[in-house]
Amino acid sequence: MLKKIIFFILILGGLFFSDNFFTFQKKIIPIDNFKSPLFLTKKQKCFLPLHYSLGKLDNRFNLTSEEARQALLQAESIWEKAIRMNLLQYDEKANFKINFIFDQRQERTLAYKKLYEQLDQVQKTKGKMSKEYQELIKRYQIKLDVYQKRVKNFNTDLSQYNQKVAYWNKEGGAPSDEYKKLQKEKKELDKRRNKIETKRKELNKLIQKINLLAQKEKKLVENYNSNVRKYENNYGQKCHFDQGKYFGDHIEIYQFNNYSDLILVLAHELGHALQMKHVINSHSIMYYLAGDQDFKNLQPTKEDIEELKKVLKENHCL
Ligand SMILES: [Zn+2]
Repeated sequence: MLKKIIFFILILGGLFFSDNFFTFQKKIIPIDNFKSPLFLTKKQKCFLPLHYSLGKLDNRFNLTSEEARQALLQAESIWEKAIRMNLLQYDEKANFKINFIFDQRQERTLAYKKLYEQLDQVQKTKGKMSKEYQELIKRYQIKLDVYQKRVKNFNTDLSQYNQKVAYWNKEGGAPSDEYKKLQKEKKELDKRRNKIETKRKELNKLIQKINLLAQKEKKLVENYNSNVRKYENNYGQKCHFDQGKYFGDHIEIYQFNNYSDLILVLAHELGHALQMKHVINSHSIMYYLAGDQDFKNLQPTKEDIEELKKVLKENHCL
């Protein structure tokens, strides 16, 4: 605006004080270009805290919404405590969702868990069975010993008796007192024989019980082994897969072994949501593979913190 006014006075001055129109015209000063107004640069705003909330949660994960929410808050606090900043904010209305997507990855995990629990049960049952088996075998051995001794004695007495009977039969019959004595002896032998027979049946029942137990144990192991084979056929191959993925506007969680594993997956993906990239220490939350991290007490490593500070600076948050 000021430049325009100065230009007008000069024209008027030329008009009144010059006697030559043409000379006057020569004095006209060319018009300056208009200067564009300066661009006002807006101070770039830090995107934090990032508002997020729980989205889809497939019930096959065996996780309640509250448990999932608590896990998210725990994962969030791992980063926030380390840097003492409010980086993330759980907010039901947030568009940024954490979705739990159930597919073969978690199905495999659950199948493995089931197999592992079954193994534990099988081992316990097998232990009980083997104890019972040993006890039965011991009882059987003792009873068998007694039985065999009885049979041996019986056979000795029987053969003596038979010899006597044969002798008297050869003589054409036994005298009356000898006959009575031998009849009494026979009765006792019959009684003993019956008792032995009862013992024999008892012993066989015990053997049956032992064999049945052995069969049951065999079936138990076979059943478990068949489940192991089924698992191997379905999921046996080694593979790398994503436990979770950050998509820019949402996160998907696919697989976790247990609660502390879930915390790592969430902390890692939330790390990506905070714009962090992978770091190269295998103990770091932001390492691309899970495994070496301290699951019981998950803390960001030096590399994690360096990466976090870097992205916070880049995003004008520090
Ligand atoms: Zn990653």
